[in-house]
Amino acid sequence: MKQERESLDFDIILIGAGPANLTLALHLQRLIDNHNEKEKTPLQPDIAILEKGRYGGAHLLSGAILDPAPFETFMPDFRERGCPVEAVIEKESVWFLSPRKKFRLPYLPEPFRNHGNLLISISRFGQWLRNEAEAAGVTILDTTAATEPVIENGRLTAVITDDKGISRLGEAKPGFEPGMRLNARAFAVGEGARGSLFRALDRSFGLQPAETLQTYETGVKEVWRIPAGRIEKGTVHHTFGYPLPPSVYGGGWLYALSETEISLGCVTSAGPENPNVDPHFNLQRFKDHPFVSALLEGGTLLEYGAKAITSGGYSAMPELSGPGFLLTGETAGMLNMQRLKGIHLAMESGIMAAETLFAGLINDDFSDNALSGYRERFERSSARQELFLARNYRSAFDRGLYSGLISAGVQLKIPGLKLAAGAAAQENHLVPGSREYTTFLADKAAFKPDNVITYSKSSDLFHSGTIHEEDQPCHLIIPKESIEDICNKRCKEEFGNPCQHFCPAEVYEIDPQSTPILKLNPSNCLHCKTCDIADPYAIITWTPPEGGGGPAYSRS
Ligand SMILES: Cc1cc2nc3c(=O)[nH]c(=O)nc-3n(C[C@H](O)[C@H](O)[C@H](O)COP(=O)(O)OP(=O)(O)OC[C@H]3O[C@@H](n4cnc5c(N)ncnc54)[C@H](O)[C@@H]3O)c2cc1C
Repeated sequence: MKQERESLDFDIILIGAGPANLTLALHLQRLIDNHNEKEKTPLQPDIAILEKGRYGGAHLLSGAILDPAPFETFMPDFRERGCPVEAVIEKESVWFLSPRKKFRLPYLPEPFRNHGNLLISISRFGQWLRNEAEAAGVTILDTTAATEPVIENGRLTAVITDDKGISRLGEAKPGFEPGMRLNARAFAVGEGARGSLFRALDRSFGLQPAETLQTYETGVKEVWRIPAGRIEKGTVHHTFGYPLPPSVYGGGWLYALSETEISLGCVTSAGPENPNVDPHFNLQRFKDHPFVSALLEGGTLLEYGAKAITSGGYSAMPELSGPGFLLTGETAGMLNMQRLKGIHLAMESGIMAAETLFAGLINDDFSDNALSGYRERFERSSARQELFLARNYRSAFDRGLYSGLISAGVQLKIPGLKLAAGAAAQENHLVPGSREYTTFLADKAAFKPDNVITYSKSSDLFHSGTIHEEDQPCHLIIPKESIEDICNKRCKEEFGNPCQHFCPAEVYEIDPQSTPILKLNPSNCLHCKTCDIADPYAIITWTPPEGGGGPAYSRS
């Protein structure tokens, strides 16, 4: 159905209100204000940010330890301006966990040194940045998802935003509001990990190098209120080992935001080559470990959520710009997995993108050549230096935990060194018939949440605030014939339908007795994108639902 759409014109549109694009907006606005104070001809561009969440920070989830370095460039007075810093890190340690014991690493590897860094809730941080951007004069369109790029004469010229009020059968309901066509001279795409608009642009412009596909992990997190006196504010623990088998990359964290509020979570590698993982289950087992449960005893679960993490690093970075657009933050692959940090890199990318777009405004030039100035800035930046030195960290773990630890240790002395270049990645042992898979299913079947420390997915989901308009087209696109051929047959036999495990929100339910065996609960979706990433047949495409749907984080 061809849809009549209202069309609005902007100079610059930013897709996604995460740290990358919010920093971009603030820095750009400041550059413009400084220019206008000195020059006779003022710049008065229309700048807008589109965000699919229903308020600032609603869809932002992170650990989060913030390396505050970028503030020096763009807002040295961030504390005076009310930046919500929960704690300054004062105590830190790294632990290896066995099922019931813990062993402290005798020294702190450099990437885990966080003394003086800040503990934040990224949803609160995002809300604050958003308010700062709005106060600076940037238009922010919440509950608005960019669903489709408009490419004309080989250039991104507009985006289409989500239709509101279409039924699950595809018919307009009373009050239907068609999405708009938003035109701009330049765009910055900062959708975080596995952006849906980015994927569409990649199909048109070939942004992701074919030889180095991007890789991801899934982070699952809870925030707890705990009785006072158990942990000091500003304490940070990182763990590896239990509950993950050596073949699965990941680890846990525990951050004391205050004496009575902690952030804890688990990172689990999620990919088509190893799809039988359950990131939510891993978090429950992590909490059940005496090290963690002793802290949580008598506490209250406040919030739950999940989100993908981009982990391919420097070698898997896509092109940073294309005709009419720049990629920022995690969409540009800027995350240092060695430090599990992306916020400061997202902010640095925002600063570099702002300078590029400011030059475009001054010179009235947003040509490909002008936008490629962003790449040049990146090449000279500390972000590039950091990502380059950590470039072989994550891939070393493709051969398992122990091999990865040896490589990671050597890389501390010789940054970037790649040991055993070209060695084959671990085989996937978590497939039907294998011992590891049988144990995985048995462990899951034996797990009974106590609703005190551990929770089922559905109870946890309740603490994410996730809601969606129920009567709308399913935003998880799976072709009907794929459900018949793949879900019902091939995937069942070859992988045991891993979607029922890897999704941390019980969106995918498998009932072997019914046809089709797959039942979808799209309203549960946390927008973590794990399904789009880990499905071994790549038949699931995550698309944005009606704007405003999704989690309602306020502490994550
Ligand atoms: C579990 C976990 C722990 C982490 N821990 C840390 C840590 O301790 N320290 C650290 O520095 N980093 C950490 N990171 C990484 C860090 O959170 C990210 O690198 C950072 O948030 C990336 O910022 P961004 O602006 O690029 O994207 P995001 O923060 O992902 O923001 C993207 C925004 O775009 C919106 N959006 C997406 N698509 C669309 C669309 N089509 N239309 C409209 N809006 C859209 C989203 O709703 C979201 O609000 C962690 C990440 C996770 C998941």
